[in-house]
Amino acid sequence: MIKLVLEHFIPSLIIALLVFFLFKKDFFLFLLPFLTGVLIDADHLLDFLLAYRKNFWKYLKTCATGEYFITSGRIIVLLHSWEFVLLWFLFWLHFQRIDVAIIGSFSWIVHLFIDHMCYNLHPAAYFLTYRIYKKFNIQAICMDKS
Ligand SMILES: [Zn+2]
Repeated sequence: MIKLVLEHFIPSLIIALLVFFLFKKDFFLFLLPFLTGVLIDADHLLDFLLAYRKNFWKYLKTCATGEYFITSGRIIVLLHSWEFVLLWFLFWLHFQRIDVAIIGSFSWIVHLFIDHMCYNLHPAAYFLTYRIYKKFNIQAICMDKS
């Protein structure tokens, strides 16, 4: 669990500190890297709930292990998607917040990049369209065959 937090918290903290000093100590911009760089992992909760909807409390202590992916045979992780990074960027660009667009999407990209380095995934695994096309099948997304 600590590994999971640190692998995204530390890079987000570095980005947040850089942003804090570059953008005149704006507290909202300081928090932004944690929103898109750490909290997107909250989407794992949906995968966990779908795998253990009937035995939620029984398996709660295993939620950090990722066993729920194996149990359900699916990987959804909705926010782990390049399409949502692009949507985030375009949304904030539309509202002329280029700072929010760049900082948020950069932190999100760093998160997805780290995940790709830490797990043996198909190169297209973090495209939601690919996961939908493969019906979220773990065999098509995760390259580990063990
Ligand atoms: Zn992640």
